[in-house]
Amino acid sequence: MGTRVVVIGGGLAGMVTAAALRSRFDEVVVLERDKLPDGAEVRKGVPQARHAHLLVSGGARVIESLVPGFLDRMYAEGAHHVNAPGDLVTMVMGWMPRRRGSQFLVASSRALLDWVMRDMVSRDPRVQIRSESPAHELIGDAKRVRGVRGPDGVLEADLVVDTAGRGSRAPKWLAELGAGDVRTEVIDSGLAYVTRVFQAPEAARTRFPIISMQADSHLPEPGRGGVLLPMEGGRWIVTLAGTRGGEPLATVDGYTDFATNRLRHPIMGELIARAEPLTDVYGTRTTSNQRYRYDELDVPEGFVALGDSVAAFNPVYGQGMSISAHSAFVLRGVLADGGSTRQAQRAISRITAGPWEMATGMDMHFPDVRGVQPTRLDRMRRAFADRMTLTAVSRQRVYEAMNATYMLAKPMSSMMAPGVLLDVLRGPIDPPLAEPPLTVDERRRAGL
Ligand SMILES: Cc1cc2nc3c(=O)[nH]c(=O)nc-3n(C[C@H](O)[C@H](O)[C@H](O)COP(=O)(O)OP(=O)(O)OC[C@H]3O[C@@H](n4cnc5c(N)ncnc54)[C@H](O)[C@@H]3O)c2cc1C
Repeated sequence: MGTRVVVIGGGLAGMVTAAALRSRFDEVVVLERDKLPDGAEVRKGVPQARHAHLLVSGGARVIESLVPGFLDRMYAEGAHHVNAPGDLVTMVMGWMPRRRGSQFLVASSRALLDWVMRDMVSRDPRVQIRSESPAHELIGDAKRVRGVRGPDGVLEADLVVDTAGRGSRAPKWLAELGAGDVRTEVIDSGLAYVTRVFQAPEAARTRFPIISMQADSHLPEPGRGGVLLPMEGGRWIVTLAGTRGGEPLATVDGYTDFATNRLRHPIMGELIARAEPLTDVYGTRTTSNQRYRYDELDVPEGFVALGDSVAAFNPVYGQGMSISAHSAFVLRGVLADGGSTRQAQRAISRITAGPWEMATGMDMHFPDVRGVQPTRLDRMRRAFADRMTLTAVSRQRVYEAMNATYMLAKPMSSMMAPGVLLDVLRGPIDPPLAEPPLTVDERRRAGL
């Protein structure tokens, strides 16, 4: 018999894992609980697909290396290639200028992204994706996992990778094998998301920038922000979000009021007023930062967890899918070097550590956040981050370093490169822009 890896969960993390491991095992079996659609459709197990999803360049490049041709296929299906920050109209501590940069975002519906991945990965004869096949428990003992119980009985495996998402039952299953309890950390700003999809005005269906307004934790009120993402089919997906006490209502009136009157600038409301709504307003509160400290446990050999089942982040930072891709890439690398699954698990935890610091480091400053209180050191870190953001307005090297880190294209340490630090020390030259930097042509095409 050849070697087999079983992947629990056929979401994005499951697909990147299957793509990464197909060259290392004779057989890759993906067990997915849902009935998988034959196209770009939202499904029960991935409800977040109703909300704006950004694929940042660091993750996009890794996915492309695991699934060659992925980006071309996405663009052929109508996804937008968005230069960062050239095609970004972003408000952080004020509006940031637009200059062509070396990073990018892929803007599409999440359903399209999942479909393209699944379709491309499933064409490999080494990969079997079993729809309507929930995993029920792990088979093995505290020293070694040997398989999974699925709907057709026990499926033996040399390696089991859990990618069952935020609600994964792997911690419970491992405890049942006697492997101990995995410690969980949760840091929750109480963020609520509401999303609606629009048909963009005809002239704005192509070459339109992403509009992003980040919540400002310096204000003595809950954080409120939003993002408008162009996607396939000439549509815009517009997600609005507010932290505890400032949550938008998931109704048409509540949504419109939030976009028009509650954000720091009315641009979002002005744009959607000129677009045609295509859907209801959908809400979610699945936004806390949550991580399982598998790195602290003697995880049985033959088992690895990856993706949201290890660390899930406040989605406004747009990093979850890309962290999954990096993690699958590293898993393959550790196994190729002869490392153990425990070593791979610790390497995956290290990948999630930087984004965790970043996301929780921002979230902890919003009112009534749960799970953490900012210390003096945290406030000093934020003061440094503020100076960096204000410096990035006029110093391209700083903006590039911030973007590359945020887009998971370079490690956090690249923000501490001597040249970048020197620029931050010199400080800002110009203040942020007072108005969103849409061009005259973009305004005209959007009907503003
Ligand atoms: C509102 C929202 C917005 C987001 N926006 C972004 C963004 O802009 N950019 C970004 O990069 N990330 C974003 N994320 C995060 C992103 O969705 C996840 O990081 C990404 O989907 C990877 O998740 P996953 O595959 O680990 O888990 P999931 O997407 O949750 O997939 C888990 C899969 O496992 C299946 N499953 C569960 N239990 C079992 C079982 N027992 N047996 C078999 N199958 C099972 C489920 O049906 C599902 O298919 C967002 C998340 C949310 C909630």
